[in-house]
Amino acid sequence: MSDNIYDNYWFAVFFCSYDMDKAFMDVFLWTLLAFVLTWTTYHVTNRRKKATKLADVAVEEIRYGGPDVIIVGAGVGGSALAYALAKDGRRVHVIERDMREPERMMGEFMQPGGRLFLSKLDLQDCLEGIDAQKATGLTLYKDGKEAASPFPVEDNNFPYEPSARMFYNGRFVQRLRQKASSLPNVRLEEGTVRSLIEEKGVIKGVTYKNIGYVSKNCRLEEPEKLHLIMAKPSFTMLYQISSTDVRCGFELFSNYFPSIANGEMASFVKNDLAPQVPPKLRKIFLKGIEEGAKIKVTPAKRMSATLSRKKGVIVLGDAFNMRHPAIASGMMVLLSDILILRRLLKPLRNLGDANKVSEVIKCFYVIRKPMSATVNTLGNAFSQVLVASTDQAKEAMRQGCYDYLSSGGFRTSGMMALFGGMNPRPLSLIYHLFAITLSSIGQLLSPFPSPLRIWHSLRLCGVSLKLLIPHLKAEGVIHMMSPINAAAYCKNYMTATARKWYRHTRVFHLIKRKKTAAEEAEADTEERRDGVADVIIVGAGVAGSALAYALAKDGRRVHVIERDLKEPQRFMGELMQAGGRLKLAQLGLEDCLKEIDAQESHSLAIYKDGKHGTLYYPSSTKFPYEPQGRFLRNGRLVQRLRKKAASLANVQLEEGTVKSLIEEKGMVKGVTYKNSAGEEITAFAPLTVVCDGCYSNLRRSAIDNKEEVLSHFVGFVVKNSRLEDPHSMHLTFCKPFPCVIYQITSDEVRVAAELPADSIPSMANGDMVNFLKKTVAPQIPETGKLRETLLKGVDEGLQEVKIHATMSMSAKPCDKKGVIVLGDAFNMRHPIIASGMMVALSDVLIIRNLLRSLPNIGNTKKVSELIKSFYIIRKPMAATVNTLAAVFSQVLIATTDEAREGMRQGCFSYLCSGGFRTTGMMAILGGMNPRPLTLVLHLVGITLTSMGCLLSPFPSPRRFWHSLRTFALALKMLGAHLVDEGFKEMLIPTNAAAYRRNYMATASD
Ligand SMILES: Cc1cc2nc3c(=O)[nH]c(=O)nc-3n(C[C@H](O)[C@H](O)[C@H](O)COP(=O)(O)OP(=O)(O)OC[C@H]3O[C@@H](n4cnc5c(N)ncnc54)[C@H](O)[C@@H]3O)c2cc1C
Repeated sequence: MSDNIYDNYWFAVFFCSYDMDKAFMDVFLWTLLAFVLTWTTYHVTNRRKKATKLADVAVEEIRYGGPDVIIVGAGVGGSALAYALAKDGRRVHVIERDMREPERMMGEFMQPGGRLFLSKLDLQDCLEGIDAQKATGLTLYKDGKEAASPFPVEDNNFPYEPSARMFYNGRFVQRLRQKASSLPNVRLEEGTVRSLIEEKGVIKGVTYKNIGYVSKNCRLEEPEKLHLIMAKPSFTMLYQISSTDVRCGFELFSNYFPSIANGEMASFVKNDLAPQVPPKLRKIFLKGIEEGAKIKVTPAKRMSATLSRKKGVIVLGDAFNMRHPAIASGMMVLLSDILILRRLLKPLRNLGDANKVSEVIKCFYVIRKPMSATVNTLGNAFSQVLVASTDQAKEAMRQGCYDYLSSGGFRTSGMMALFGGMNPRPLSLIYHLFAITLSSIGQLLSPFPSPLRIWHSLRLCGVSLKLLIPHLKAEGVIHMMSPINAAAYCKNYMTATARKWYRHTRVFHLIKRKKTAAEEAEADTEERRDGVADVIIVGAGVAGSALAYALAKDGRRVHVIERDLKEPQRFMGELMQAGGRLKLAQLGLEDCLKEIDAQESHSLAIYKDGKHGTLYYPSSTKFPYEPQGRFLRNGRLVQRLRKKAASLANVQLEEGTVKSLIEEKGMVKGVTYKNSAGEEITAFAPLTVVCDGCYSNLRRSAIDNKEEVLSHFVGFVVKNSRLEDPHSMHLTFCKPFPCVIYQITSDEVRVAAELPADSIPSMANGDMVNFLKKTVAPQIPETGKLRETLLKGVDEGLQEVKIHATMSMSAKPCDKKGVIVLGDAFNMRHPIIASGMMVALSDVLIIRNLLRSLPNIGNTKKVSELIKSFYIIRKPMAATVNTLAAVFSQVLIATTDEAREGMRQGCFSYLCSGGFRTTGMMAILGGMNPRPLTLVLHLVGITLTSMGCLLSPFPSPRRFWHSLRTFALALKMLGAHLVDEGFKEMLIPTNAAAYRRNYMATASD
């Protein structure tokens, strides 16, 4: 028993100790469990709390069962927005005061642009079944004349049928309401919202009222036109709003408003307006009045758009932004706004997040600008121009507007594209307004510009500025002037309708992918056929040799075929501008200017009528190279370039004359040439570059372009001579043409005089010597050994004399595949500014950089895609130089015309005036600042200086007249080049900035 007890004791002890451990373990585990449970419970409850909190917030944001959006008003905007948002899955509640079909005189003309937006919102069918009438444009009437202004039909940028629709607004609104309420998530309710949203927009312009009535059961002779009569006091309109009804409307000022109640209005229509309405429309115009149609009045308001500061609310439509109704574009702007809003709101899951929504809304105000600023400015300017006045300047503007709109061509189509919302580019509008002003001035000044007419034309300038400036201010100068926003708008909102676009792009991409794969495979098999070069270059002049070196350095196999490998003895390309030296450095060719006895060029010295100025190239920190040019013998430079190119193993430089390009299926495959042994040979390469100079025979096979001979230059070399200032180009403003003298080597001077294109003095019978001695020499200054050097050269028998045609040819893109044209064969300008080599080298550099990204030049498709960008990238340099050369060469010609003489003097004075004028012009001349816009500003400066020169010492009427002619002359000169080089390229600074960044930033590349 004791044993048992003992045993038990031990058992008990054991058990007890086991039990205690177990108890401890139990306690521990239970505590842990309790802790875990408490912790979990705490967190779960907390999370639940959090979730409930979040849910509460969400409930607050989207009250369960409540709408995402409340829209007040189911007019055009409200209904269209309701439909668009509901289509995107939003729950929309629309509250409309009156669900009956509205009977109102507004929104009866849907511009082509508006129709495009309707289709983008999938609402185009709302224009069906309402007896809407098609409108193909305007017919304008003024003082018995009539002109048709159709919407442009061949506007490739507008992806929709370019016609408008005219209809009863109420019918259209009802269709929109029906369509919106057909969606299950739209609740359309009749009710009046009492609390109005305050807005800061200021309503202006209630000084005009639009009056209208309907002439029933009649049809216009031309029902497809909006008939706009430029009557007095303001415009009158007629248009077919249904197959049987015509809307007649006119505008009146609030200060003269005949009473409708006592019949004064009807008499006014009959007696004052009807006689001004063309007979073919008059009967219909009077019909409504005679039949006692209800006359309606709506005030013509305008209100610029202001950013809403309140969160949770967006104001749209007429409550947000209004313009004069004369251009019937309110619905179009509204639909554009809805489309933008819809796209902006689409990515937002929860419209209750007021912060996000208001961020989105901020973008909306920017994105909408191109369309709204264009339409608002046009509407307000047009309405003011339409008002008849006794003021001659205003009247001329009104007439000018009519003439411009009825003149046809790009003026009419441009204005109608703006009017129809087919081109929402504020800058285009400004351009047209500017052109209307000029044509009105022309109108005012004809048949001859009396002082009074000049005065009125100056006032007209003021009127036009007054029309434009308040709108520029209201809409924002940046928005109006920057084309980037407009381009983005067009890209996003004016392309073909989304679904079609999507379908097309999918198919397009599939085809494209297949095609590219096939082409790449083909290209790869063509690639690097043994013994075949990657590139054939025709001509080893400045462009050809530089390109050969640049491409070979990038590993291409280059075959250069040059007619004559001896050192060229020619009189051209003897000044390498600082900008050209930079290009040489970037191509790794700067050493070619060494060891050829080239002379530093620091400045331009100009002489006119005994006066003189020395203009230095500015040392600008922005130009990454030494601001100096080099005078040189062109042949020596060309030989150095050829040698450097030929030093590379992958360049084959061969003497031979290329006879023709080999073409297969519209693609250039190579060339046929005669080698030095007289054998006719064919050479093939995936890419052929034609650089055969100004007398190119081959360019005609590649581009459709023709050179123009402007004049001639006679040039000779004066040996063993050194000018007192060998570092300047000496330019004398001789009559009739300029003469230049410069040091080309340490002991040789070049004398070059310009000659008219049609009367070159004969060299054989001594006329040339006489001309140089008797006409040119007396005008050359005696200082600096200039005249002495010229006479020395003449007396020594005009050594190395050559006559060279000066030619000009604008650049035209080459559409042919497998070929590029470069250098003088591609683009030429007057040589007076000595920049041809610089432009050619800039082009070579761009082509080299573009092709660098291609491992395989055999991929002709990719090459030609890249080359397309070449034509844009080159513009800043090429357009600046070409325009400067053209304007400068024309200004330098002496004539008996006082306006031209004023310009010549003005140019001399401007260049000599020092400061930013001189440095600015010299930077452009030296190729150190390739910004076309800067050049345009300097040309404006020169014009103003010339006008100042002409008007001084006091402005007589005659001087006034000549100064106006100078202005016209400058516009003509500049206008021609703006057209030639492209407005966009000349006036938009973004391209120039990109060029500078990529090609003017460093001296090595
Ligand atoms: C009077 C005058 C003065 C000028 N002064 C200046 C100046 O001071 N500074 C300046 O920068 N620019 C000046 N220029 C312009 C400049 O000379 C040219 O822009 C530049 O030389 C063009 O180079 P390029 O390679 O295109 O043509 P080029 O240098 O003329 O080279 C064309 C080459 O093609 C070869 N060739 C032609 N046909 C064939 C063929 N069928 N087969 C094979 N080879 C062929 C020719 O032999 C030649 O070597 C001046 C122009 C003129 C007319």
